[in-house]
Amino acid sequence: MSTAECLFCRIVAGEVPADLLAENDDAVAFRDIDPRAPLHALVVPREHHADVAQLAAADPRLLAAVVKLGEQVAGTEGDGQFRLVFNTGPEAGQSVFHVHGHVLGGARLGWSPA
Ligand code: IMP
Repeated sequence: MSTAECLFCRIVAGEVPADLLAENDDAVAFRDIDPRAPLHALVVPREHHADVAQLAAADPRLLAAVVKLGEQVAGTEGDGQFRLVFNTGPEAGQSVFHVHGHVLGGARLGWSPA
């Protein structure tokens, strides 16, 4: 997929509106449009990588930057405790193929993905 067609590239570029929570030179965090927890943010690298495995292989520093921004948002928007989920592949629930961490928090979370 080209970055012109990628929803999260378009959010990063400011072409699609989003509820931005934090950003830096590496990554952007914004609220999920369909929240599954009181805090549900998405944290994405500015650069397009399809999923977390591809990002880890291509640029581990950038993956660490994504995690750090997720931790930051969990602190500014919640109590600092959070779950960070990278759905990887359609069977795992990935629907947008620009790597994104789901930052979930703000409540005691259940543990039942299936
Ligand atoms: P995935 O299913 O793990 O790929 O997660 C994609 C997430 O993107 C879902 O939780 C959607 O609710 C969310 N989403 C889709 N479109 C938008 C949008 O335009 N803004 C914010 N979140 C979105």
